[in-house]
Amino acid sequence: MLKFSENLGDGRFFRKEEAIEIVVQRVRNCKACPLHETRINPVPGEGSLDTPIIFVGEGPGEEEDRTGRPFVGKAGQMLNKLLKEVGLSRDKVYITNVVKCRPPGNRVPTNQEMAACSHFLMAQIQIINPKVIVALGSTALSFFLEKKVSITRMRGKLIDWLGGKVIFPTFHPSYLLRNRSTGPGSPYELALQDMKKVKELYDEYRKV
Ligand code: SF4
Repeated sequence: MLKFSENLGDGRFFRKEEAIEIVVQRVRNCKACPLHETRINPVPGEGSLDTPIIFVGEGPGEEEDRTGRPFVGKAGQMLNKLLKEVGLSRDKVYITNVVKCRPPGNRVPTNQEMAACSHFLMAQIQIINPKVIVALGSTALSFFLEKKVSITRMRGKLIDWLGGKVIFPTFHPSYLLRNRSTGPGSPYELALQDMKKVKELYDEYRKV
């Protein structure tokens, strides 16, 4: 049962569930950038609407494009594994991407594509109103900070953002798949540290 109503800015009020559904439908019909020409399915996002935590990746991959769901391929399995290791699960958070349609060959989305799509992500953030935005990888982090930044240098830090929210950068799960070591100081071990921090933040803010 949803507790809050959202003013979408045009004088009408919607429950979160209804407001998100409007965004989802608009994503499904969107042809605002060239990525719509090569997509099979747009991938709006999914998860809890009452969560304090939203995960934001770069863009859908092949399996996501096929199914219309975020993080369901190999990178998604890695994300699920990290969540499980710290006692979190997908249904406790919201998961989406900066761009909602797959860039061909999994290339990095262009600035123009991200700009064309960003209003969907901003609407999702406005509706869900999370306390923490987990930026998965440098593309998502650079999008939020509006400058090119290194995920290796920034990961694990809390960065103040708009509206009292914080950005928490960590590695993209696909980076962990390309760097398979798991020992001390490895990308996986650092990502696990980050995910433990995400769980702490979840526990802290879900009560607020
Ligand atoms: S990536 Fe975003 S802006 Fe481009 S067509 Fe898909 S939904 Fe529209």
